[in-house]
Amino acid sequence: MAKKPNTPPTGNCSFCGAPLSEVEMIFSGSDGAHICNNCIEQGHEIVAEQMGPQPGASARASKKTSVKPLAPLAELPKPRQIKEMLDSWVIGQDEAKRYLAVAVYNHYKRLHHKNGSGAGSGSSSGSGEVEIDKSNIVMVGPTGTGKTLLARTIAKMLKVPFTIVDATALTEAGYVGEDVEGILTRLLQAADYDVEAAERGIIFIDEIDKIARKNSNPSITRDVSGEGVQQALLKILEGAVVNVAPEGGRKHPDQKYIKLDTTGILFICGGAFDGIERVIANRLGTQAIGYGKGGGTQIDRENLLQYVTPQDLKSFGLIPELVGRLPVLTYLKPLDKTALRSILTEPKNAITRQYESLFAMDGVRLTFEPDALDYIVDKAVEYKLGARGLRSICETIMMESMYETPGDSERQAIAVTLQFARRQLENNDLGLLKVS
Ligand code: ADP
Repeated sequence: MAKKPNTPPTGNCSFCGAPLSEVEMIFSGSDGAHICNNCIEQGHEIVAEQMGPQPGASARASKKTSVKPLAPLAELPKPRQIKEMLDSWVIGQDEAKRYLAVAVYNHYKRLHHKNGSGAGSGSSSGSGEVEIDKSNIVMVGPTGTGKTLLARTIAKMLKVPFTIVDATALTEAGYVGEDVEGILTRLLQAADYDVEAAERGIIFIDEIDKIARKNSNPSITRDVSGEGVQQALLKILEGAVVNVAPEGGRKHPDQKYIKLDTTGILFICGGAFDGIERVIANRLGTQAIGYGKGGGTQIDRENLLQYVTPQDLKSFGLIPELVGRLPVLTYLKPLDKTALRSILTEPKNAITRQYESLFAMDGVRLTFEPDALDYIVDKAVEYKLGARGLRSICETIMMESMYETPGDSERQAIAVTLQFARRQLENNDLGLLKVS
């Protein structure tokens, strides 16, 4: 490495030829070559221009000042607090909330444990003798019951980078589609290229059930869409240092990569696992034999998901290695009318509250009458739209008022009555209502 000599060098810059007397500084190499400060500056500019902005470089450079260290253990919300916080955004799903709260708390405790002091990323060497395994999570439950909402709310609460990916869009590296490492690009982008923050972020993989292999026997031929993707996921789920393309896209020999350690990233997977009830029922049916009549606990056949086990996920078509890397398994219940009714009014950003705020901005006081709310719930159930449908139904009901009200100084209050709701919905083509 060139260094500034103790004794000033004599001679000229080997690059531009300028004599020492004409430059401010000159550095000499071990082989007698010299370079002046002007040539160094010029060289630096050319390099910067050729390579373009380097997200990784800037993220790493700014790490020391911009990264908030992992909160001290004492400040981490406890499982009970996590659950309470989830309660104000997500209706019901108590079992899933409790499992998530414990898993998330343990995950961040694990990061502290690994780091010893409790600051920094999950990549530093372990300090404890006991190694705590990663607690990635899988949630099984019908679509639109709050799986994504739960994961998103937890990430928001912990103020960690969060990204959602759809497992159906993933393919093995080398095939058309997004390869598994693209997931990490998204997280890195969500973290604004702050590598340390990304290394303790949360990734929600939706529709994990869609990459199940089609029959539960291991395939002899390659299965690009399902099993291959499951195999590819194993590495990042378990924890590995991965070369991530900062801008995503296909890997390219000239591309610059950012190294990301996935050890501290929490993966939460969700899926509807349509038909898994049959798998569960079969297993329970088999187990029931031999226990005798009246033996064992009563099985609630209406909600078999509550009995889901890792074995059922394997029977459904997830490979054992993947199931093994998702040790926390929980389920979500279908939403009944009472839950749908609560979703309309109770969460912090409940749909009706959103409309009330929108109208309040125009100086109009909006209210929903209870029987109008019941009507909206009934329609959501009738159209089989679930929680997602509540919004489309409300949007249809409110459309005319949202068009007419702004600028109408006469209107200071609007009450959404049953009659009004019914008229608005019937006046519109119900076929237009679709799941958002
Ligand atoms: P999925 O289970 O398919 O991931 P989402 O979490 O995306 O479902 O839910 C879709 C929408 O329905 C959410 O944005 C939210 O508005 C509403 N929703 C669903 N379940 C609940 C719930 N338990 N509590 C409050 N809102 C919910």
